[in-house]
Amino acid sequence: MKRAFVIGHPIAHSRSPLIHGHWIKEHGVDGSYEAIDVAPADIGAFIERVRSGEFVGGNVTIPHKEAVFALVDSRDDLAEEIGAANTLVTRVDGLHAFNTDYLGFLGNLDQNAPGWDANLESAVVLGAGGSARAILVALKSRNVPAIHLLNRTVEKAQNLAFDLGGRIECGPLSEFRSVAARASLVVNCTSIGMQGSSFDGIDLGLLPKSAIVTDIVYVPLETPLLAAARTAGLKTVDGLGMLLHQAVPGFEAWFGVRPEVTPELRRLIEATL
Ligand code: NAP
Repeated sequence: MKRAFVIGHPIAHSRSPLIHGHWIKEHGVDGSYEAIDVAPADIGAFIERVRSGEFVGGNVTIPHKEAVFALVDSRDDLAEEIGAANTLVTRVDGLHAFNTDYLGFLGNLDQNAPGWDANLESAVVLGAGGSARAILVALKSRNVPAIHLLNRTVEKAQNLAFDLGGRIECGPLSEFRSVAARASLVVNCTSIGMQGSSFDGIDLGLLPKSAIVTDIVYVPLETPLLAAARTAGLKTVDGLGMLLHQAVPGFEAWFGVRPEVTPELRRLIEATL
């Protein structure tokens, strides 16, 4: 039987076993997908278990994404650019890492806002943490002409923009009011929205009526930002789709079947949020 995993610390909250379990059943795969709590001190030993062939691969989440990146034998170009890995595959030539967060982000927008990247004038990205990095790489891969990266700590945004290169203008969150009028897409990559927190001073009324607002926070499914966007009559895309779509390439690499993100799967996960 092919065994796959998700490791993190803590890991009990992860919805990944439900997603992959659903696809394993749907496709009649002789496989398993289990959540394993690995403490930071044990990550090296766990990677050796994977390298020995005990697993076909798996997912990696907080706090291991950067550590694993350094421990594998090879990485694909986009994982290199993002500087973090969330998916591992055991191959004959060693342990390979890639990053599917950016594919999840793009897959979610492509499915729920088709054509979002046609005639895009500029995108506003809120937040400059680990996920923002993958999302900036994703936006650049679709040739978004201008990106405004706004973050509470402006220096972190500047460092990220410098690392990635290209046309990324940085500023504080308060700069939203001066860049909103030309924004076709707003992406929240901060943790604001979780546990009832909400933005102060982000006036979505300044956006063009055709703008799309997406949030990568998915608990709650409708964050205060998405609720405000809906009230303002803007198109919204929630963060659950990103979680579902980022799981597709891993499943395909481990079990040889490309699964689909269906309304049924979405309902299954939604019921647990
Ligand atoms: P991270 O690396 O810790 O970055 C957090 C970001 O939020 C930073 O930009 C930080 O600003 C900002 N922030 C936090 N508290 C703030 C506050 N009170 N006011 C203003 N800014 C604040 O986190 P991450 O890994 O990027 O993840 C961010 C969120 O995305 C998490 O909620 C995570 O669950 C979610 N996520 C969802 C998916 C998905 O599949 N849908 C995937 C990955 C992550 P500073 O730089 O100033 O600290």
